[in-house]
Amino acid sequence: MSSKELNPYDNAMKQLNSTARLLSLDADILETLSQPKRILSVSLPVRLDNGKIKNFQGYRVQYSDARGPFKGGIRYHPNVSLDEVKALATWMTWKCAVVDIPYGGAKGGVICDPKNMSTGEKERLTRRYASAIADFIGPRKDIPAPDVYTDSQTMAWILDTYSQIHGFPVPEVVTGKPISLGGSEGRNNSTARGCVICAREAAKVIKLPLKGATAAVQGYGNAGSWSVIFLQELGVKVVAVSDSKGGISSKSGLDPAKVQSHKDKTGSVVGLEGTSEISNEELLETEVDILIPAALENAITAKNASNVKAKIICEAANGPTTPDADYILAKNKIFLVPDILANSGGVTVSYLEWVQNLSREHWTEEVVNQKLEQKMVNGFKGVYEASMKYSVGMREGALAVSIGRVADAIKSLGMWP
Ligand code: NAD
Repeated sequence: MSSKELNPYDNAMKQLNSTARLLSLDADILETLSQPKRILSVSLPVRLDNGKIKNFQGYRVQYSDARGPFKGGIRYHPNVSLDEVKALATWMTWKCAVVDIPYGGAKGGVICDPKNMSTGEKERLTRRYASAIADFIGPRKDIPAPDVYTDSQTMAWILDTYSQIHGFPVPEVVTGKPISLGGSEGRNNSTARGCVICAREAAKVIKLPLKGATAAVQGYGNAGSWSVIFLQELGVKVVAVSDSKGGISSKSGLDPAKVQSHKDKTGSVVGLEGTSEISNEELLETEVDILIPAALENAITAKNASNVKAKIICEAANGPTTPDADYILAKNKIFLVPDILANSGGVTVSYLEWVQNLSREHWTEEVVNQKLEQKMVNGFKGVYEASMKYSVGMREGALAVSIGRVADAIKSLGMWP
């Protein structure tokens, strides 16, 4: 079986085991971390618009709460599987630990096809799911957030359902909610902001001047489009972007406002006047200094990794590089900032939202961004130092920092009962 075919939870456990060897981790701690702490499987009968009941399958996996309450998004997708949710819950645990925010890790998923559901059906499904997991979530237990095909409206329905059950408003039960319900300023572009801070720090390490440097961004959604704007603010020329329909390039650099307005009008970046059309494959192999994969998993594989010419790869997406590709990129001395660090800006501002809710405060975007900057710079520094200490790449360094922190917490807590 190739590494690409490994199921995601096997992959996550392989990473845990190799990091345990690197850290000479206590065997009892490794045994404790070999399974999620809790797995909830819920069946969700929902009345559809045609009057019939359909039963949906939902999960919430709580991997570890050694460092604080469980935290993680909820995904609505036809391909959701228990192994995927278990893997994502494990990676959330490492992600929160790598930027040192006091959370554990969890993930939720419902097998459904939200693109073919009405708003009413999605609301009824969400409320049913929220009521099914209500005893196991809470501001001090487990705080959900949006993920693939869920958004601030989904969070508002969960907040309302949970609050109705308890009889009083509990805004701090979810993050990524609308500002009108206690959402944070800056949450919308925090993943991209954190990712570009990582790219900037990586450029310092390899002594790459950012003024006049070039970049390509795969995926022009939330994370990708904001990354283009933040890269430009640093003086980087973004010469290629793409979405699911294909890519565009321009040697003189793309204007983010024009790309966005073209995408709003036509549904894709492809066809913008004054640009050449390229494929997603070509985008990844473009001659640039910085490459930001911000679309799906498994974009950089053993097939194309040796053609990547970028000096820095900063993974905004979750799992865009396969383990085989990692090996090739490392051999070619490409500086890679791994997903659990590069896209942790989102969960960091989620944490800041929760802190604001608990203290009934609302901070300005400037304050939020300052705190995000600090967390990302410290997170990057810790990972870089670990990669130097153990003579490994940044991905192994990030796992060493985060798994080391979780292990320390488990050791200090001891075992009860
Ligand atoms: P999004 O849905 O807003 O955007 C995804 C973009 O990728 C779209 O433009 C889509 O057209 C494009 N795309 C889809 N398939 C593609 C393909 N085969 N090739 C090229 N482009 C393709 O999603 P997002 O929120 O920006 O998330 C993107 C990635 O970042 C995901 O892996 C997600 O898990 C990760 N991430 C996002 C956040 C966040 O806060 N938004 C946080 C952490 C991680």
